This record gives sequence, C-alpha cells and structure tokens, in this order.
Amino acid sequence: MYKIGIPRGMLFYDYYPLWAEFFKELGAEVIVSPKTNKDILNSGVLNCVDESCLPVKVFHGHADYLKDKVDYIFIPKMISIRKLEYCCPKILGLPDMVRFSIADLPPIIDTTINLRKINYTSSKYKKAVYEAGKYITQNKSKIRNAYKKAWESYERYLYLLSKGVIPIEAVKMYNKTFVDLNYNSKNHDMSIMVVGHPYNIYDEYLNMNLISKLINNRIKVMTPEMVSKDEIIYYSNQLPKRMFWTYGRRIVGSAFSLIEKDEVEGIIYLSSFGCGIDSILIDLIERKAKSKGVPFTLLTLDEQTGEAGIDTRIEAFIDMMKWRNKDDCDISTFR
Ligand code: SF4
Repeated sequence: MYKIGIPRGMLFYDYYPLWAEFFKELGAEVIVSPKTNKDILNSGVLNCVDESCLPVKVFHGHADYLKDKVDYIFIPKMISIRKLEYCCPKILGLPDMVRFSIADLPPIIDTTINLRKINYTSSKYKKAVYEAGKYITQNKSKIRNAYKKAWESYERYLYLLSKGVIPIEAVKMYNKTFVDLNYNSKNHDMSIMVVGHPYNIYDEYLNMNLISKLINNRIKVMTPEMVSKDEIIYYSNQLPKRMFWTYGRRIVGSAFSLIEKDEVEGIIYLSSFGCGIDSILIDLIERKAKSKGVPFTLLTLDEQTGEAGIDTRIEAFIDMMKWRNKDDCDISTFR
C-alpha cells in the first residue's frame, strides 16, 4: 500500500477532506504531519530561503517531517482556484521551492491546478485529477469514483464551515454522522472576527491558540471561511479595482460583509511576517472598520514563540471592547 504524505500547512485547511479522501478511496494510506510544533518550525526555518514568509517556512518543516515516512508527498501546484483569479506566487511555487530546498525528498505529486479559465467540470481539470490518481492506480474509473466520493466529503466539510464550524474542528468532524454545530456560539458575550489567511488563523502553534483563547473568554469567533461565496463576491466587488488574488478577495469580502451587516463587534487581523499581500489587505479592512466604528487590531506572527505578548494584546483588546460597550463608545476603537 502506498503511503501519501500531506503536509499540515498552507492550503491544508481548505482542501484536506478532498485530498485525503481521494487518496484513501484509491487504496493509499494517508499520513498527515502533526500539528506545527517547535521542531517543525525550526526545521522549516532551516530548510527554507530566508526571504520567505512564515507560513511557507512552516510548510517546509512539515514536508521535512514527512520525507522519511512516505512514498510520495502531495503538494499540488495551485496556480488558480477560481476563474480570473490567482493564488499568491509563493503558493503556486510551493512544490518547486520544497523540491529544491529539502534534500532526500520522496517524489512530490505536484499536479497543476489552474482554474483561471475553466471550472471543476472541465476536461482539463479532470485530467489533473487523473494525473494525481495515476501515482496510485492506472484504472481511470477507480480514479473517477474516488474523486466523486472525495468530493462528497468535501461538500460535507464546506457545509460544516457554512454553519459556523471552525476548520480546525471541521477536519475532525466531516465524516461523523452527528456534530454539535453550536459549540462556538454558546453563551458568548461578544463576537469577534479573526481575519487573515487560513494557514495563520488555523495553525494553533503559530497563533498560540488564539481562537481557543477567544472562545474561552466567551467570545463568538467568526472567520472568513464562515461567510458565503456570494457575500464575499458581493462585498469584495465594492472595491474600485478588482481583487485578483483569491485569498485577498475572500479576506476583504468576508470582513466587509460582517462589518457592513453589523455582525461583529471587533476585528482581529492575523498577519504573518513577510507577507506582501497582507500589507494591502490590512489597510483596506482597517479603513472599513474605522468608517463603521468597529474596533480593529493587528497581530503579526513571526518566529518568536513567547506567548505573553500575544496574550496581553488579546486581553487588552477584549477589555477595551467590554469597557466600550459599557461606557457607550467613550473609548477609541483603534489599537
Ligand atoms: S499570501 Fe502572504 S503569507 Fe500567504 S504565501 Fe503569499 S506571501 Fe506568504
């Protein structure tokens, strides 16, 4: 039985159910790297070029962890995942960066996904699916059926996200028959949107358990993945210029939607050191929040692992929001 390694980083929280179920249905064993930890972070920093952003470095650490344990590592080349949009250049260059940075890797399954001009039903996309499946079997109908079943799991996963389940939980729940859809919204005093790229928001080691800390403080947490595609498109179209990065569009559209509809009382933007795209997105969202009087704060993640700094910032932000609600807007909403 082939062993396929899936690194727990970058687009893992967007596509894990689809990728994992596909390879499992083909008869392979799927091995996922563990949650990010100090060793993975250190090995990512050592193995990746210095100029890269933090999530890409961490991804290298996950790939390095898997290299002696699997027959193949699955790192698709994600050029575009929506019509007329692109992924960040560092995402589309990921398989090549990993291949040339880490020694003694097993072969990488680096199927190209480019949906800039096509959609998921196009023959070109199906060809990409066959290309990935061929590493396990040459039987086309088996690959087709495996993909169909994997897509069903993926749709179930997307359904959970649309019901407010955070991806960290949804990856554990998507193949269970019963799930508690209300665990994140019970007994909350306030709601805060944690906005940013999924690999920052859902990597509990990098962000030092930000989401759990908020939930434990009786905060309902909203993230971009909980906002519908239609809303994201509608609100991101408010920008004078079209946003052609898919994640940029998701981040801006979801934040604009929740701010405009008055569904969040505060925004925490979680950025990572070295991200060029975030410098634009942060400014757009901060301006929108300011125009609507919604408190906004920015947390930038880097390779430091001291927790006190982030804890102090979160506590100060929550306290400010509580006092502000109590004292009827006497307190500044920014920083
Ligand atoms: S969007 Fe930013 S954080 Fe994500 S891969 Fe690109 S540079 Fe890195």
